[in-house]
Amino acid sequence: MNCPYCRNADSRVVDSRVADDGVSIRRRRQCTACSRRFTTTETASLSVLKQSGAVEPFSRNKVINGVRKACQGRPVTDHDLAVLAQEVEEAVRTSGAAEIPAHQVGLAILEPLSRLDEVAYLRFASVYHNFQSLTDFESAIGRLRDRRSNVPQGTQRPLTAD
Ligand SMILES: [Zn+2]
Repeated sequence: MNCPYCRNADSRVVDSRVADDGVSIRRRRQCTACSRRFTTTETASLSVLKQSGAVEPFSRNKVINGVRKACQGRPVTDHDLAVLAQEVEEAVRTSGAAEIPAHQVGLAILEPLSRLDEVAYLRFASVYHNFQSLTDFESAIGRLRDRRSNVPQGTQRPLTAD
């Protein structure tokens, strides 16, 4: 980041704090040439390791595209999907790792999706967990029902034990 005043390429960090979104870092910098101060916002890089071995940058849009199909015909808005993608990103970033397996992104999608729309959750989980039979659906539905009836609102346990 060049100094916005004199274009000098070198600066030192005088203060760093996590921004309100919890994901990016705001840095107060001082130019080493003209000594003026400016602020930058940086996002720590987060990579996804795919099963093929390829590594690509984490993308909220990819999360949204992956979930959108499961939400077809359901009362789920683009805003809901954007919020979900943000939750997923925050969840995977809490691990602190710079590179996470794609599997972990899928797991992080399941919980917020189950709260957003149970039908979309079942569709997504059936593909993600490769449901083979009605029994797989029945047990997933059973877990959703258990959670609804046994656990008070607000203290819901995660559905995904794996
Ligand atoms: Zn400068």
